[in-house]
Amino acid sequence: MQPKREFQRAVVTGGAGFLGSHLSDALLASGCEVICVDNLCTGSRDNMRHLLDDPRFTFVLADVSAGLHVEGPVDLVLHLASPASPVAYTELAIETLEVGSRGTSNALELAAEKGARFILASTSEVYGDPLESPQSEVYRGNVNPVGERSMYDEAKRFGEALTVAHATRRGVDAGIVRIFNTYGPRLRSGDGRVIPNFIRQALVDDPMTVYGDGTQTRSLCYVDDTVRGILDLAASHHLGPVNIGNPEEITITELAERIRGLIGSSSPLRHLDLPADDPKRRCPDILRAGTLLGWKPTVSLNDGLLRTISWFEENQETPDEGPPVAESLSQGLKERTGP
Ligand code: NAD
Ligand code: UDP
Repeated sequence: MQPKREFQRAVVTGGAGFLGSHLSDALLASGCEVICVDNLCTGSRDNMRHLLDDPRFTFVLADVSAGLHVEGPVDLVLHLASPASPVAYTELAIETLEVGSRGTSNALELAAEKGARFILASTSEVYGDPLESPQSEVYRGNVNPVGERSMYDEAKRFGEALTVAHATRRGVDAGIVRIFNTYGPRLRSGDGRVIPNFIRQALVDDPMTVYGDGTQTRSLCYVDDTVRGILDLAASHHLGPVNIGNPEEITITELAERIRGLIGSSSPLRHLDLPADDPKRRCPDILRAGTLLGWKPTVSLNDGLLRTISWFEENQETPDEGPPVAESLSQGLKERTGP
């Protein structure tokens, strides 16, 4: 087995986002310099505020689909830039396809030029609405190429193919991580994903918006576990793809009830229409991550939710700025677009 490597200077695309900012924290804590490149389309300066005075942290406001040029040595490129929530990528459909294609190409070129390790943040969405569960990396998925989620699913699938081509044809030292639903502090309340929606709603006793009958499942991984898994893959020499996620599967109705109970909220459940192509089951097979990386998640759903709820309690927004649900989100996003 080859020794794990340490990195000196990393580029994190999407570093102002939820996962990217936690990855930047972990890299800086390990002694690595970090250059965050982000256009803030769904990210936020707030996520980096604690880092902006650190001389080892640099923030570059830029669209990685337009180009990605960094002076000096780089030994790690973590490519996370992409809208990630269904509400965000529906609103930013073309931008999502651009960053999954041109953006990934630009990030791979940077890694090739610098001789850096490259990690693509792919997703469990490459399995689409899976016909088998749990999903292992050999499962090829059930994706609708022209459906409501296709801009995201196909962008990520193309990104994976591009990464494999650069690895096998040009010798780029690349890895692909398929991230399953991850949650924790710094999830944007206007993001539209289930955890920020349910926590915000339960904290103020508003109805909790369950889409469809709530029998669809997700398997939620706490952010610290996901970050450790991504960095474990980075520190290895594996191409993957490798699933990183927590196999603790739960229905959306159970999740709403769990959050309501942990908060002690009296929110009712309000059922809204299920978005088209919403996957019915999602659960990672993490055998490969265990075998190749010695990785497994360690934070239980209850512990992770309690930590996340505490963060949301400490970062309350003004009362009239409630959590957006599907139909009201496009305006919320437009207001946030740009630096
Ligand atoms: P996020 O929206 O918080 O972060 C994404 C970041 O990318 C934002 O800061 C955004 O401004 C930036 N970005 C988007 N397009 C860009 C562009 N063209 N140029 C520069 N920056 C751009 O989302 P997240 O949850 O932190 O997701 C990060 C990555 O991980 C994404 O690639 C996502 O597909 C992947 N992922 C996340 C999850 C999850 O559960 N969080 C699951 C699977 C995959
Ligand atoms: N969901 C929900 N209510 C919400 C937000 C999401 O019931 O307010 C459901 C959604 O339909 C999906 C699951 O929760 O079945 C996870 O949605 P999310 O947007 O967090 O991520 P996805 O896994 O769909 O990418």
